[in-house]
Formats: sequence, C-alpha cells, structure tokens
Amino acid sequence: MDSVLFTNVRVLDGTGAMPWSGSVLVEGNRIRQVGRSVAPISASGATVIDGAGATLMPGMCEAHTHFSWNDAATLSAIQKMPLEEHVLWCAKVARRYLEAGFTSCVGAACAKPRLDVVIRNAINAGQIPGPRYLAASQEITVPGGLGDETLPHLPFPEFSFGVNVNSADEMRKVTRMFLKYGCDSIKLNLSGDNFTPDSPADTTWMSDAEVAAAMDEVRVRGKRGTAHARSAASVKQALRHGIDVIYHASFTDEETLDMLEAAKDRIFVAPGIAILYAMLHEAEPFGVTNAMAVKMGYQIEWDAALESLKAMHRRGVRVLPGGDYGFAFTPHCQNARDLEFFVKYLGFTPAEAIRSATVYGGQIMMRGNELGQVKEGYLADLLLVDGDPLANLSILRDPSRLLAVMKDGQFAKRPEMASARQFRRAA
Ligand SMILES: [Zn+2]
Repeated sequence: MDSVLFTNVRVLDGTGAMPWSGSVLVEGNRIRQVGRSVAPISASGATVIDGAGATLMPGMCEAHTHFSWNDAATLSAIQKMPLEEHVLWCAKVARRYLEAGFTSCVGAACAKPRLDVVIRNAINAGQIPGPRYLAASQEITVPGGLGDETLPHLPFPEFSFGVNVNSADEMRKVTRMFLKYGCDSIKLNLSGDNFTPDSPADTTWMSDAEVAAAMDEVRVRGKRGTAHARSAASVKQALRHGIDVIYHASFTDEETLDMLEAAKDRIFVAPGIAILYAMLHEAEPFGVTNAMAVKMGYQIEWDAALESLKAMHRRGVRVLPGGDYGFAFTPHCQNARDLEFFVKYLGFTPAEAIRSATVYGGQIMMRGNELGQVKEGYLADLLLVDGDPLANLSILRDPSRLLAVMKDGQFAKRPEMASARQFRRAA
C-alpha cells in the first residue's frame, strides 16, 4: 500500500481547533496517523514530504457547483454551447477545481440533462481527474420562471436553460427522467432571480403540488431535493417539503429563520453571495453598471442576504461557501473567495469559514463521518498550503500558494519541494 508522510507541517484539522505542529501519515486512501509533536511519526517505506512549516488542512468542498456554466455572461450563451464542446468544457473545469483545492463539489444544476452525471461517472471511473462529485439534474422550472428561456415563437425545449414543467404530473415525469439518468439530486427553481427581470428574486413560482410530486419521487429513490430559493416564501416552501440543500436564501423573515433553525441538523444553505457582489461591483466590463445592477434589485438583495445569513450563522444553521461561479462576472476557480466574504460580510471567524468549507463540506457530501477533517481514519483529501489561511484566507485562491492537493490518497497536484525525499523500504 502506498503511504505518504507529511512532516514538519502545521495541522489545521478543520474543526476550529487551534493548529499544531506535527506530522500526518497517509496509507492508501486514508489518514492513518496524526502526530501532535514535532518529532515525526516513524513510517518506513513512506514517501516523506517535508512541509517546511506549511499548513496541512482538509481539501475544501464547493457546496453549489455548476461545472457546465462556461464563464459566459448570459444563460443563453451557456445553453447554446454544443453538447460535444460542453462535455469537454466540464471535464476541463472538473480538473481545475480539484487542482484549486476543491476535493469535493456538490453539483447544483447542469445546463444539459446528463452533463453532471457523465462527468461524475468519468471521475469515479478514473477516466478524468476531478473532485468527489454529487451530480445534479438540470434546473427544473415553470413557464416564465428562472431558467425558462423559450420564446413565444420558438417554444422548443432545446432553447431552454431549465426544463419547464406545467403540472404535478409533468414534474413527476421530469423528475423520474433525471433519476433514471442517475442524478444524485433534483434541482427545483422555486424562486425567481434578479438576473431575469421578468421573474425577480423575491417572487415564488412553483405550486406546492409540483414540489410535492418531485419530492415524492426523490424519496422513493433515496436521493436529494435541492432548491434555488431566494424569496422568503420559497425558502419556507423548500423547508415544508423536506428539501435538504437550499441555495441563496436571501430574503427571510422571523418565521423563515425559525423554520431554518428548527431544521438546522438536516439542512444546508449555500448562498453563493459572490455573484450578488460581482453584479453590483464587477460586472461593468460585461455591460452591467452598478446603476443597472441596483435597478435590477441587486443592492436590495445584497443587503437582505447579509442580514439573513448573519442571522442563520448566529442560529447555528450550516452556511457553506461556493456558488454560482462560472459566469463572466464570477469565473470558475475563484470560489475560495467566498471564505473571505463570509468573514468580511457575514460575521464568521476565519476558523469558522474553514470549518464550513471542510467539516460541513464532508457533511453535505453525506460522508461527515469520514470526510472533511484531518483525523485518523478519515479519507485522505488534503491541501498543503504555503502560509497560514487563518491569517490570510486569500492564499486559498492563489495557485502558487497551494503546494499540494491530495484526493483519496493520490496527489492531484504534487508538491515540488526540494526537501521532498523518498525512502525505500530497507527490506
Ligand atoms: Zn446556482
């Protein structure tokens, strides 16, 4: 069995505990031993990586991932990428996420029916490098809602970003189709979005009968429902129907917050706040000035989202980083910026932001008992970081500071350290 010994590292285990100087032994795909002293663990035959004081932490999880968003400025430009190019795009992006330190990603919807499933299967089969991945369905929406990009004179589903349903029966049919394809989760667009002015963020679109039909099917297959839910009514609808992963949750009231808190051991919130910030302050090169973004409602939503998410964090709701990277305004692989945003705008400590990306990451991947911590027996998903992320979270999105990335005991990015040495077993 291959083994790797990291010596002379500062171990940041993800739980919020203070880092310590020590060493970590990986055997096969698991963390075998975690040493808490500067004297290294003895491990003959292991490849020894002298960390020279670098930080060893768990791989991060992106809780709201869209591999198939192609860094374009419109939904239509994502949708119109031909399928063949789209598959190659997704494969390339999956590799980039892994190399950027995201050893787990939760798919939050893909732009064509089977893109996520195909990429997940290829990763799991070892055909392409990529993070551990939970594959999403396409977005499911209703006529006029977010994701319905059909035109009155071109009513063709191929032109639509999301799949349109128009009754509980149609919802059941579409949900069954995605479950047949092998999706790990079914994504429902419960609210609108300020990106689509005819269906803004504070509007709620799907009937309870439609949501119930989807969740019936999801439960029968033991899978998971996820929701695009920006409005308070949509967050409550998601909670009423037992949806586990809530994306955005920008608008809340006291009742919504109470309901979120009551479900806190079951649910996860992945708000994806970077896109709100980017639309307000960074989208001008793509034709959206600050004044236009304010008019679209982004300032109101930003202000509401910060209040909502701060309250959720105070109440112990698990709020996770990631979300809606893959637009021109929020290009892929800057995702770790969310950790900085959590500290700057949501009242997290840096250690809490890292816990959200690691410990909570293992939990949202449904493997909290073996993923997301530097802990004996856990899966060896590890990052070797040049510097102290607790003092400066921005190093987590600087490729030059990410010295090594390990997933499942294998290096996705090998350390290029002069002191790395290999000892061969004497016998
Ligand atoms: Zn999203």
